[in-house]
Amino acid sequence: MTDEARLSYGDPITAPFWQGAEQHRLLIQCCRTCGAHQFYPRPFCLNCQSDLVEWVEAAGTATVYSLTTVRLPVSPEFNPPYRVAVVQLDEGPRMLTNIIGGECRIGDCVRVQWRERNGAPPLPVFEPVASEPGHNDGQTA
Ligand code: ZN
Repeated sequence: MTDEARLSYGDPITAPFWQGAEQHRLLIQCCRTCGAHQFYPRPFCLNCQSDLVEWVEAAGTATVYSLTTVRLPVSPEFNPPYRVAVVQLDEGPRMLTNIIGGECRIGDCVRVQWRERNGAPPLPVFEPVASEPGHNDGQTA
């Protein structure tokens, strides 16, 4: 993929997310009117309908909200078995993603990593981290 193609990846609403991904920066939107964070990107704030949404870098830490293992091939890009999860970013929004690395359960703390792809920007995936006091509701791996 050429630099020009990478820079124009996505559409006008999502392009900033992919440009962040190229630099391994997880960008989400934050509303300048009410302070709410949101993902995926939209042209306005879901909470207050303001169009004053700006891009901010997320901390990259999250808690596993839902988790499953896919064992049947559904796409040539993904070789089963692999784990699909919804993670809740520390900023609030939930994100559909893959879990890599070691054992992982619902409630575990995870941190963003980047999976490189041919012909497209990297994808954010999440990896379990050692439980940090106060980060989740006390569950341990
Ligand atoms: Zn708002």
